[in-house]
Amino acid sequence: MKNSTYLLFLFILLVHSQCQPPNPPEVKEKTASENVERPAYTIVIHGGAGSVSPGNTDAAREKMYTDTLNYALNIGEEILKNGGSALDAVEATIVFMENCSLFNSGKGAVFTHDGTNELDASVMNGKDQTAGAVGGVKTIKNPIKAARAVMEKSPHVLLTREGAEEFARDNGLETVDNSYFFTQNNYDYLQKILEKEKKKMQGSLDFTHPDWKYGTVGCAALDKNGNLAAGTSTGGMTNKRWSRIGDSPIIGAGTYADNATCAVSSTGHGEFFIRYAVAYDIAARMMYGEAAFQDAANEVINKKLVEKGGAGGIIGVDKYGNVAMPFNTAGMFRGYAKPDERVVKMFPDAHYGE
Ligand code: ASP
Repeated sequence: MKNSTYLLFLFILLVHSQCQPPNPPEVKEKTASENVERPAYTIVIHGGAGSVSPGNTDAAREKMYTDTLNYALNIGEEILKNGGSALDAVEATIVFMENCSLFNSGKGAVFTHDGTNELDASVMNGKDQTAGAVGGVKTIKNPIKAARAVMEKSPHVLLTREGAEEFARDNGLETVDNSYFFTQNNYDYLQKILEKEKKKMQGSLDFTHPDWKYGTVGCAALDKNGNLAAGTSTGGMTNKRWSRIGDSPIIGAGTYADNATCAVSSTGHGEFFIRYAVAYDIAARMMYGEAAFQDAANEVINKKLVEKGGAGGIIGVDKYGNVAMPFNTAGMFRGYAKPDERVVKMFPDAHYGE
């Protein structure tokens, strides 16, 4: 080959290689769940994990709790059925649970070491991933409303203590004296713990296992427009001190919602849920690892947390309306509703023969 012909050949080869169309984008097969039609709406709730087990409940108590959980579901379901938003359903359902002294949130909040009640709550909108939360508040009747106000009416995500209370008052939310949160049961429970603590003082004080009066509430919902939202509200842990704040008002730990994946609310030993960013971890496994919602939730609660020693559970719904309610404790107050389906349970599924 003559030199000039050879150079021309090389030139053509070079131009040709530069002009190759890029590799066509990889067309991803739709997963089975992407082909599944989602229900018109889904709502899922919890009333806390841990305190309840088949051995410590009688039929009357069981009925009282299941009736109350059903009533809470009715409130959110009514909103969703009529085309209301996931956010409104979550807020209204949690307000009901906060006003009910059966659960450790709002009126039923547990006592701190100093005999006060300090409440935490958070909410997240999966549509735009805005979020709001309050921590350590003593006078806000419904902390979930304050969390929503922080999300919608402030440039912040988390407000605490007196500042959060001032913000709530300025935004017209109902405030009450801290004594509104007094319940005899919770007070007696604190006394029991303090007694136990006094005895322990004679030995060495163990802060690794704070006594935990369970019953935090949470709700997650999927509305007719495909929007997800989640919220959580709690009195925290009995005998907490030093202005301890748990996972419930921490976005990514106690609450998380993203329309691209799922909406989650946690309950359990908050320090573990914060350390392992539990709610976000579940969403991240779906987002980056393409895990199915129920698998991701199970892995985190029944494997990772168990290995680390963290007790608790989560409830949630994914963008397809799949529900997950795993827990690693003896029981968890929980339930969900879809257009033709309703489940309310307190004990492990095996207890119901499943
Ligand atoms: N997670 C809550 C906290 O640590 C307690 C609970 O869920 O019962 O404050």
